[in-house]
Amino acid sequence: MTYTLPELSYDYASLEPNISARIMELHHSKHHQAYVTGANAALEAMAKARDEDNFAALPKLQKDLAFNLGGHINHSIFWKNLSPQGGEAAGELLEAIKDGFGSYEAFTKHFTAAAMGIQGSGWAYLAWDSIGNQLIIGQLYDQQGNLPVATLPLLMLDMWEHAFYLDYQNVKADYVKAFWNVVNWEDVAARFTNVKVQSKSLLLG
Ligand code: MN
Repeated sequence: MTYTLPELSYDYASLEPNISARIMELHHSKHHQAYVTGANAALEAMAKARDEDNFAALPKLQKDLAFNLGGHINHSIFWKNLSPQGGEAAGELLEAIKDGFGSYEAFTKHFTAAAMGIQGSGWAYLAWDSIGNQLIIGQLYDQQGNLPVATLPLLMLDMWEHAFYLDYQNVKADYVKAFWNVVNWEDVAARFTNVKVQSKSLLLG
């Protein structure tokens, strides 16, 4: 199997009361696992289609791969973006947030609005735009749509109903508010440092 479910670095219950153990268990062991399984299945089916010279099967399989690999990547980032300790943005990342969005407060309002305004299922994200060399906020639809290639996510918030409904029902705003309590800013800052270095070679050589 090419893809495997990553272990979490914290217990399912450790994000309570912000995110319940029940949600974490279902979300990680069932939902995320389903994307891992689906991504592996899509790769296998593609290999089979090539072997059988059945290239007509590929467009559907490409969509399956994008959706499921998207789900696997998004959740893999999301788990690391969270920590029981929470914290605050600091250092170069905080400065870049202020440069990009005016103030930390304006950033959280913008990100929250992006999360709250998703129509259907999707994610809010803070990403590094590797051609503009700046931070951007966006809405990712489903697991793979509306994200420009070579924008590299630093902070992601799952706004699928499976991520919050057991705890917050329809009150998304309380879920987003709780999310800010458990953001692992050290992880976001580490991604920010890495991505700035990598994105130079990524696009421009
Ligand atoms: Mn999810």
